[in-house]
Amino acid sequence: MPSVAGTPSARSDACPGVLTTHRADDGELVRVRVPGGQLTDVQLGVLADVAAELGDGVLHLTSRGNLQLRAVADAAELSERLAAAGLLPSATHERVRNIVASPLSGLLGGLADVRPLVAELDAAVCATPALAALPGRFLFGFDDGRGDVGNSSDDRIDVCWRAVDDRHGVLLLAGVDHGVRAPIADAVPVTAATAAAFVSVRGDAWQVRELGADDAEALAARVRAERRLQSAQRTEWPIQSVERTEGVFQRGGLIGVGLRFGALSSHQARVLARLSPNIVLTPWRSVLVANLDPAEAMAAADALAQAGLVLDPRAPELAVSACIGRPGCGKALADVRADATNAMSELATSPDPAAPRAHFSGCTRRCGRPRTPAVDVLAGGDGYLVDGEPVPAERLGAVLAEKGHE
Ligand code: SF4
Repeated sequence: MPSVAGTPSARSDACPGVLTTHRADDGELVRVRVPGGQLTDVQLGVLADVAAELGDGVLHLTSRGNLQLRAVADAAELSERLAAAGLLPSATHERVRNIVASPLSGLLGGLADVRPLVAELDAAVCATPALAALPGRFLFGFDDGRGDVGNSSDDRIDVCWRAVDDRHGVLLLAGVDHGVRAPIADAVPVTAATAAAFVSVRGDAWQVRELGADDAEALAARVRAERRLQSAQRTEWPIQSVERTEGVFQRGGLIGVGLRFGALSSHQARVLARLSPNIVLTPWRSVLVANLDPAEAMAAADALAQAGLVLDPRAPELAVSACIGRPGCGKALADVRADATNAMSELATSPDPAAPRAHFSGCTRRCGRPRTPAVDVLAGGDGYLVDGEPVPAERLGAVLAEKGHE
C-alpha cells in the first residue's frame, strides 16, 4: 500500500480544470473535461466561440479526449458560458469527470454500444460526494470490445470496463485483469465502486498503476466482495485495432479527420459543428464526424479538407506530434512545433510521407508522448537529440525520412 495508505494525499493536485486554472507562459490554461469525447454541435459551437473570444483561438485536444484552452483572458466568463452549454455540470467534480470510451462505439464495429455508459457514469460520479476526492488524473474507461482504450499494454486507464460480448465485460485495473467480471447493466456501479475504493486506500498514489500488485489485487477483491461478483479466470487483453488507421478514414456517413498537433481552430470547429449534430473527440487527437447523410459525405469531406483538417491517412501530420514548446511553456528549450512543421514539409515531399511516428519534446518531461512507439525528438540547448543522437534542427526532416526507410 502507498506510504500513507488510508489517508488523503498530502500532495496537492495540480491538475487544471475550468475553475482551477494553470498559469502557463502564454497565460491561463483551462482544461475542459469531455466525457467519452462526445459533443453536440451546439456545444462545439460554444467551444469555438469561447476559444476565439477568450483564448488563443484554438481548442487543444489532449490524449484523454479532453480539451484545453490557452491564454484565457477571462476564466470567470468562460466558466459561465461552458456551464450554460452543459460542459460544466458540477463545480465540485469538474476535474474528476475523466472518461475515455471507444470512439467508434455504436457507430462502427465493436461488441457493445458503450456510449450510454459514459453519460450514466458521469452522472453517478457527479452525484457521489466521495468521488470529488479522486485525483484529477484518475481515468475511467469503457471499451466496446475492440481493445482501443482498454488493453493489457495501457496502464493509464485506472478502471476500465471492456466488453467481451454485447452483455458482459471484464474490469481492467491499470490494464490488468484481476478476475472481476460484470454484466453491462452493472458496468457503471462497478466502475464507480472501484473508484470509491481507490479513494479510500490510495494514500499518496494518484493512479492505480502506482499501487503495488498486491494492493491492486486487494482493491479488486474488495470490489468483488462489495458487488458480490464471482472470481473469474484472468487473461491478457490485447489491442485489436491500430490508432493511426482508425483516426482518419471515411465510411458511409462517418468521417474521421486528423488535426495537426491535435489543434482544432475555432474556424475548423465551426465547420465540424455545421456538418453534424454528433462530434466525437478521440484520445488520439482526431475527430469523428458522425451521422452524416451518406449522399452528402463527399461534399462534407471537401469542406473538412478546405478547412485544413487532415483526411489523408498517409499525411505527415499524422506521423508527427509535439508538445506545446516555446513560447507557451517556460520549460521548453525550442519552438518544437515550428521545427516539427518544417520537418513535416520535408516529409511531405519524400517518397513515403508516412514516416515512423515521431514526437517532438521541448524538454525531458516529454508531455503528450504517444503510447505507441515513436521516434524521440528532444530539444537540447543547441539542436535536437533524435533517439539520443544529436541532429541540427534543419536536418530533422531528412533524418526522420531516412528513419522511414530503415
Ligand atoms: S515537454 Fe517540457 S517543454 Fe514540452 S510542454 Fe512539457 S514541460 Fe513544456
